[in-house]
Amino acid sequence: MKTLPKQCDILKIEEKWQKEWEEKGIYHFDYKDKKRPTYVVDTPPPYPSGDFHMGNALNHTYFDIVARYKRMRGHNVLFPQGFDCHGLPTEVETEEHYNIKKTDLPPEEFTKLCNQFVDKYINIMRTAIKRLGCSIDWTTEYQTRNPDYWRKTQLSFILLHKKGYIYQGTHPINWCPRCETAIADAEVEHQPKQGQLYTIRFQLENGQHEAIATSRPELLSSCVAVAVHPDDERYQKHVGKNIQIPTTNRTVKIIADELVDPDFGTGMVMICTYGDKADVKAVKTRKLPVIMSIDEEGRMTEKAGKYANLATEEARRAVIADLEKQGLLEKSELIQQEVGQCWRCETPIEILERKQWFMKTRQLTPQVEQTANEIKWYPDYMKARLIDWARSLEWDWVISRQRVFATPIPIWHCRKCNEIILAEEDWLPIDPRKDPPKIKDCPKCGHNQFIPETDVLDTWFDSSISCAVHAGWPDRKDWYRFYPADVHPSGTDIIRTWAYYLMVRHLALFKRTPYKSCLINGMVLGTDGRMMHKSLGNYIATPEVISKYGADAARQWAAGGGATGSDIPFRWADVEYGWRFLRKLWNAARFASQHLQDCRPTEKVKLELLDRWLLSKLVRVSQKATSALEECQFNIAAEEIRNFTWHTFCDSYIEAVKHRLYKPETYGESKRKAAQHTLYLAIYRILQLLAPIIPHTTEEIYQTLYAEDKRHLSIHVSSWPTLDKKSMDEEAERCGDLIIAVIEEIRRDKAEKKKPLNILIKTVTIYAGTAESADILSLAQESIMGTCKIEKMRILAQKGKGKKVRDYPNVRFVAEY
Ligand SMILES: [Zn+2]
Ligand SMILES: [Zn+2]
Repeated sequence: MKTLPKQCDILKIEEKWQKEWEEKGIYHFDYKDKKRPTYVVDTPPPYPSGDFHMGNALNHTYFDIVARYKRMRGHNVLFPQGFDCHGLPTEVETEEHYNIKKTDLPPEEFTKLCNQFVDKYINIMRTAIKRLGCSIDWTTEYQTRNPDYWRKTQLSFILLHKKGYIYQGTHPINWCPRCETAIADAEVEHQPKQGQLYTIRFQLENGQHEAIATSRPELLSSCVAVAVHPDDERYQKHVGKNIQIPTTNRTVKIIADELVDPDFGTGMVMICTYGDKADVKAVKTRKLPVIMSIDEEGRMTEKAGKYANLATEEARRAVIADLEKQGLLEKSELIQQEVGQCWRCETPIEILERKQWFMKTRQLTPQVEQTANEIKWYPDYMKARLIDWARSLEWDWVISRQRVFATPIPIWHCRKCNEIILAEEDWLPIDPRKDPPKIKDCPKCGHNQFIPETDVLDTWFDSSISCAVHAGWPDRKDWYRFYPADVHPSGTDIIRTWAYYLMVRHLALFKRTPYKSCLINGMVLGTDGRMMHKSLGNYIATPEVISKYGADAARQWAAGGGATGSDIPFRWADVEYGWRFLRKLWNAARFASQHLQDCRPTEKVKLELLDRWLLSKLVRVSQKATSALEECQFNIAAEEIRNFTWHTFCDSYIEAVKHRLYKPETYGESKRKAAQHTLYLAIYRILQLLAPIIPHTTEEIYQTLYAEDKRHLSIHVSSWPTLDKKSMDEEAERCGDLIIAVIEEIRRDKAEKKKPLNILIKTVTIYAGTAESADILSLAQESIMGTCKIEKMRILAQKGKGKKVRDYPNVRFVAEY
């Protein structure tokens, strides 16, 4: 056994082990191993934003703890890492950085620029994940932008198309006029905003007027009906009649509709194509016409008459000015409203009717619900989020995007008969924007010219097959051995995307759940208790934390910061506590290493009462930590192990055996050996219990103290401590608790009297209160005297006066100096 140095340079230690783990392949997944049970983590491939924020640090710590724990429990752990490269954020950044639009360059040029950002950001993310000490098998790394990954995404598209889950259709969809693409419901963020509500006068057939309130007067040109509630007595007389739409020469019918809220505005509302989802519903059920007066760029079309070519905002102002002139604007007032906006660029979305590709997701809702109820959730109540989301969906998933940097849709259209030519599986990967189909003639009409599909796939369509891809689908014949994943980690904010899309994709493709359990992390709040966000000035960058205190301290904040699934504030104090804990552990291990030089762990020893006390408590804390980790209650595991290590082990036990270790000539060699034996066992077990949470420091101590003897390549491939019932000793715990309480009270008394800890106490008289307590304390007389440095001690069974011992009101003592 080597001794630990005094200095513990955490940052250096962390870097060293991160390198060695990778070089030695400690976390390498063995596909051929059929002995050990497998455990598969469905690592969510992060979006390469270039910013590994504290939220990433939180969720990566969570599932890294799981992976490390399972590995020590004897599982062959598959912990892969991918990067989800495509999509709007990078495209928007490219457009902004070069001040261009996606259409300004040929697609290949634009893609090249996007790839440069992705290259840079993946490097940053990879470094950050490594610095946090995640036990990833880096030989598994994949990137969704690579053609080999396209192949898998495109294959899944083809299979779903053949199964009838995919269709092309013209339906209302969410559209971002800035990004000029369709986006899914999950990508629309609803924000409260202040807006104007305009009350406008409409003329009835009989020349009278009624007022209608709207926040979007530019949609007058898209008004296809006016609706009132059927029970609204004010308006019943108008139902079925025509009404003139101001600024146009059109009239529309007044209809009665249950969905109208009689308390909104005047109780009479416009149905426009499309103001919101309620309009979509009304148009569909009543088969109303569709007038699209807004185009893909958010400008008015010729359907808007004189307002054509104006941006929506400009059109709104122009319409209002005209209404005012005509005396048709009754009033204008401020209102609080909820606006749906693009998750990426925060532009208010429009609902447009465009030809798009869809996946039939809603028909899977009953299966999603059933599966969500069958799998395990950490914490359990989070499953409602997935179920509620699935039930709330009114539209199928729009999977096509009018963008560039994405996986191409493997489809062509016959120029003559419009027949859809779906790529064959062995053509993949393929980019129809560049390559023709590998057939000469249209199978339907024999024509030989084809139009490529230029739409591309939603990024979520890439990443939502990760469970199958991690298992080796479609290339490994035995991929079913690694499917479903054992755990899928998700954040409360992405259950509706990540957890949901994975579920519907895999259910549709394989009729089986993609994951057996779902581990949810909450959001990270800033030090001010608000959501941590760059714009709020409460943002802490992960590298700042790790560079200051190291990953092992940051991981303790993540593990111990709060209950799994709840939002967790970032607190420097938690990280500092973690850092101090590492010092405490280091110093204890260093002390032990100095006293264990001649320790022979296999030698038989006769344990003292306090040795048995510690080992029994250690079994108990192992038990608690194990059940907490089984339930992904990381904060409970962290608190149990840290409290035990800091207080029971360092403050109580080590202090109580120092005299035995330092003075075998006084207390006997066998008592020294018993203390050595106990220290040796205890530190090893403590390191193992802490290893999933603080992987670097435990490894450094293990390698210095134990590697020679235990011969595991790393503590992280040693076996998790099993319940050692033999060491459970309730009697020793009961007696030991009393002895330790007395020792601590005498030491506290010394401190209160401002005496140095090493000063001798002349006499201590203990009034044990009962004969039984007196007997116990007599057994440990030597330990109490040795630890507290007492010259003479008397233990009396009677009750007496003096300082009370905490938690033992009948036990008192008097110390004389
Ligand atoms: Zn946008
Ligand atoms: Zn054809």
